[in-house]
Amino acid sequence: MGRKVLVFAEVRDGELRNVSFEALAAGKEISGEGEVIAAVAGSGIGCLAEILIQYGADRVVVVKNDKLDTYTSDGFFQAYLQVIQSEQPDAVLLGHTALGKDLSPRLAARLGAGLISDTTGIEEEDGEVVFTRPIYSGKAFEKKRVKDGTIFATIRPNNIEAITKDTSRSGVVEQKDIEVTDLRTIVKEVVRKATAGVDLSEAKVIVAGGRGVKSEEGFEPLKDLADELGAAVGASRGACDAEYCDYSLQIGQTGKVVTPDLYIACGISGAIQHLAGMSNSKVIVAINKDPEANIFNVADYGIVGDLFEIVPLLTQEIKNLKVGV
Ligand code: FAD
Repeated sequence: MGRKVLVFAEVRDGELRNVSFEALAAGKEISGEGEVIAAVAGSGIGCLAEILIQYGADRVVVVKNDKLDTYTSDGFFQAYLQVIQSEQPDAVLLGHTALGKDLSPRLAARLGAGLISDTTGIEEEDGEVVFTRPIYSGKAFEKKRVKDGTIFATIRPNNIEAITKDTSRSGVVEQKDIEVTDLRTIVKEVVRKATAGVDLSEAKVIVAGGRGVKSEEGFEPLKDLADELGAAVGASRGACDAEYCDYSLQIGQTGKVVTPDLYIACGISGAIQHLAGMSNSKVIVAINKDPEANIFNVADYGIVGDLFEIVPLLTQEIKNLKVGV
């Protein structure tokens, strides 16, 4: 059975976010023999269309309007709604990112569609698409299927594997002028926090610190390890509350939800609210001096000891491996 699937690709700092490629892979799964259309909005984005085709889009709609240069809820809502109305897809997919979380409920409500948010898996069963999503802060998973109307879902980053980039793929690129009126908010300036390194929500490896790092300086060995691994640095709320680091690093129920291939928890006790944000990581390594710490209950590998001894040793070992010592 063929379905027409519309995937809204997301751009940050002029580059497509990985979750857009993962959403395209999900789109291919849902479409079967049908068509996967990628839509991308913003300025200076025409050059991204080819990349979307290489990652599985059959057709790309490049949405143009000066008012879409910077993200606003109102502007993108109007733009995305017009694309949906003109394409009349069977399914609409967005990344489960800040943008996706902002727009998808509004769009789904306007279309009278149900929304399956934070999807971690997709499969076809008896001609229907079955979505898997975490519930109860990641302690259980539920399966959902759409019985009627447009399928509307957001895709959790780092869960559905993108298809391999194929530079020989070709597809159709269409430019679409969109009308955007009456913006209630105008973004005058975007001031970013000076966070160096890899984006936490899409990182394949995360080194996270908790209250056990004891100070702002205590994060330095973790940053060294992260540099060696090409990893992002994250934190528990305990570490953020103690002002050892910025809240933008917080992982957990009230922070970011992450699913890296490798999560190294250093000096984190493993409170349920922290686990809610990281327990679905593929491999978890915990370093804690308390052998009874709850984090060891979710860890694949546990090291009982002082993080200030162990983390530099790990960093050195990785350096040695790189130079073949
Ligand atoms: P602690 O619990 O104090 O643990 C520190 C750990 O470090 C201990 O296990 C200790 O043995 C170990 N340690 C100390 N020194 C060393 C050393 N030298 N070497 C190795 N190990 C050492 N928390 C989150 O993380 N994210 C959230 O999103 C979040 N949301 C919340 C929402 C609500 C509504 C509430 C009520 C709480 C929330 N919390 C959240 C807070 C959560 O309950 C915990 O308080 C917090 O996660 C504890 O952080 P921690 O593990 O860093 O600190």
